[in-house]
This record gives sequence, structure tokens and C-alpha cells, in this order.
Amino acid sequence: MDLPFGGGCACGAIRYECSGAPVYMGNCHCRDCQQATGSAFFPAVAVREREFRLLGGEPAWFERPADRGHPMRRAFCPECGSPVFLKNGASEGVRVLYAGSLDDPGLYRPSRDIFVGSAQAWCPMDPDLPKDKGMPGR
Ligand SMILES: [Zn+2]
Ligand SMILES: [Zn+2]
Repeated sequence: MDLPFGGGCACGAIRYECSGAPVYMGNCHCRDCQQATGSAFFPAVAVREREFRLLGGEPAWFERPADRGHPMRRAFCPECGSPVFLKNGASEGVRVLYAGSLDDPGLYRPSRDIFVGSAQAWCPMDPDLPKDKGMPGR
């Protein structure tokens, strides 16, 4: 993967850059992610907070507790509404990008499907990827 890699929102107001490779990539099929993306799942790209830099724009935040009670804060562009990244209260030091916000979404390589208990029948999944009914390891 070429570093740094960047991304942003649809209107270009929000721009970010990452100096390190992602620490995790995977598809989350939970209901919150379906609502936040307006789609079947959230293609999640987790990067180290210290390797993430906001280059421009000021996102708006929507907070809702996750199933285990910790805060889940999702950032979107107040101008165009594009979701760009989130901060998970249970994962300090990590920021999670929406793969569709990457300048090159083709670098996304999901490692697994999680929360498949709420996956949609109209969403085909890669049978070769490991599946977790909820959070991995629970
Ligand atoms: Zn925007
Ligand atoms: Zn989710």
C-alpha cells in the first residue's frame, strides 16, 4: 500500500490523510452501521489515531451508545452529509474510516464479516471471509 493515503467527503470540504497502513479492515453488518451508511454494511478501515491527520474541514458528529454501552461517535460532513470516519469509545487510539471515503476505495481488503446476525439477505457476502454473529470473540 502506498503511504500516505487520503480521503474525504463528496464535496471536498473534509480531507484527511493517514501516514500508516490500516490496523484492521472488515465489514460490519450491524443495524447502526446500516443506518449510518444507508447501505447493507459498513466497510471499516481502522487506522492509528497518531497516524491520522485531518487536513481540512470540520466534521459534524453524531453520538449513540454501542450495544456494549460505550460511546460510538460518527463524523460526517455538515455540507454534503457524507460519512467520513468514526471514533469507537472502546478502541482508544484508533480511528475508523469509511472505505467509500478513501480516494482509492480499491485499497480496501476486508478480513472478515461481523454482526452477520443482522446482515441483509440482499447483500451477498464473500463465503471465504470469517464470519462473526456479533462482535468478534464474543
Ligand atoms: Zn462534504
Ligand atoms: Zn457496525
